[in-house]
Amino acid sequence: MYNNYNMNTSTYIFIGPQGSGKGTQAKFLVQKLDAEFVEMGGLLREISSQETEFGKHVKGLIDNGILLTDSDIEKILTEKLSQVDAAKKIVFDGVPRRIGQAEFLLKTLSEVGRTDITTIYVSLPREETFKRLSLRRVCEVCKSPAISNSDPNQVCEKCGGKLVIRKDDTPEAIGKRLDLYENETLPVVDLLKKRTRLVEIDGDQPIEKVRTDINQALGL
Ligand SMILES: [Zn+2]
Repeated sequence: MYNNYNMNTSTYIFIGPQGSGKGTQAKFLVQKLDAEFVEMGGLLREISSQETEFGKHVKGLIDNGILLTDSDIEKILTEKLSQVDAAKKIVFDGVPRRIGQAEFLLKTLSEVGRTDITTIYVSLPREETFKRLSLRRVCEVCKSPAISNSDPNQVCEKCGGKLVIRKDDTPEAIGKRLDLYENETLPVVDLLKKRTRLVEIDGDQPIEKVRTDINQALGL
């Protein structure tokens, strides 16, 4: 019999700017490896819909556009990790975003014997990130996401509704998010470069090419 805690099951961390396509790539890898997917955005939506004290607390922050503190994130990660079988591979997306979160995650993973950690850094130049985020639209009616093709009469593919720019996708808001990413998340990339096996993938390519590059870099 294996002692689960000595199996050192592979763990993967996706990191990169919004718009780099890392979320899509993380999903591809989850499917390929039949891994547990720890996607912070989805996890937060799930928690904020729960009728618990903590759920209400998280919902309040999200509804007011306030970022969760590192200790909230730590609580969520601890809870989530306690539910994942030690033999199951894990893919993280959307966390860690700050140095404190990265330190905590690495410490917690090491405590459960997960030291085989690979970081997949999907890089994208700032101008390209800005361009991609500027083209994001959302259907006013069914809320489906869409990408602008610069035709002013373009409508939602699903319901024919009008496409609008999301409130948080104004040029000012995008600029602020990119500043935040550069100031708080890029230092995390440096840390993960030192403490995990890090592969850098050029995100400025078609989705399929990025997928191939990731698989190749991981030897899959
Ligand atoms: Zn629609």
